[in-house]
Amino acid sequence: MASTNSTQQREQPVGTESETPGRETSLNEQPAGTGPVEAPSIGGATNENNNGEREARPAKKKKKSKKSKAEKRLARFKTCCSLLNRKRMIRAEQQRIYLIERNKINDLREKFVIVGPAGNVYTVTIAHLPDCNCPDFMKGFLCKHIFFVYLKVLGVNRDSTLIYQKALLSKELRSIFTSNTV
Ligand SMILES: [Zn+2]
Repeated sequence: MASTNSTQQREQPVGTESETPGRETSLNEQPAGTGPVEAPSIGGATNENNNGEREARPAKKKKKSKKSKAEKRLARFKTCCSLLNRKRMIRAEQQRIYLIERNKINDLREKFVIVGPAGNVYTVTIAHLPDCNCPDFMKGFLCKHIFFVYLKVLGVNRDSTLIYQKALLSKELRSIFTSNTV
């Protein structure tokens, strides 16, 4: 649009050089004609301010939508916790599971070595895709060891929506590691 406007503006001065007398008279007529129109334009000044504010708001919404596209969740967001996962959470809280070792890889990844009730040792990784090397997780489920790390080690609220997600965003991981989950 800007390029077409600039070309039109360039054409006009070229024309005015040859038609200067005719255009000067027309320019003089225009202010005289706009004279009576000036009165409503003063009242319209307040409307222009209102319109300006209305135009600014949708522009801000567009910026927010761009930010949300910045990071994609690596799995579908689950809106509710399944019954099986609720049962695993109860087992994680009630069974004899212990933390042996905790290793911080970076701000978005930590590893936890866990001993299960049967004495088996598993490694839970809390990262963008939380995982565990136990048979239950290998079948494609979130396991009680992961829930144990969330609930007992990291102190995540058991009503948090993050606890049963198969994938987490960076900001969610930071809130989990700093125990600031809602
Ligand atoms: Zn597990």
